[in-house]
Amino acid sequence: MEECIFCKIVKGEIPSEKVYEDDMVLSFKDIEPAAPVHVLIIPKKHIESINDLTEEDSNIIAHIYLVAKQIAEKLDLVETGYRIVTNCGEEAGQTVPHIHFHLLGGRPFKWPPG
Ligand code: 5GP
Ligand code: ZN
Repeated sequence: MEECIFCKIVKGEIPSEKVYEDDMVLSFKDIEPAAPVHVLIIPKKHIESINDLTEEDSNIIAHIYLVAKQIAEKLDLVETGYRIVTNCGEEAGQTVPHIHFHLLGGRPFKWPPG
């Protein structure tokens, strides 16, 4: 996707503070952190949102959760807890149309979210 900012981050055309990278996924610090730990985990493949997932993406999504677990361990969040959020669509607050998982931690969170 030519204009997608997260595809540009994957290609290194926009700089990011990388936290984790492998063949399938990239994780980097959110530019506007909403918590002491706020990283984004994205597939390198351009998928717009949850609505666009297909069966063939199952392995990517499963892998993202395993990567999230690894990052949570690395950033020492396992004991205290952390939250993983994917916004889908405008009303839910999705602003970047490339599916991403927010990994948030380092402070308490309220439920239900606002
Ligand atoms: P959404 O609102 O779509 O769920 O989340 C998009 C997130 O991407 C926001 O938290 C926003 O701060 C972050 N973001 C937007 N542009 C950039 C960028 O260029 N670099 C980084 N690191 N994060 C970004
Ligand atoms: Zn993209």
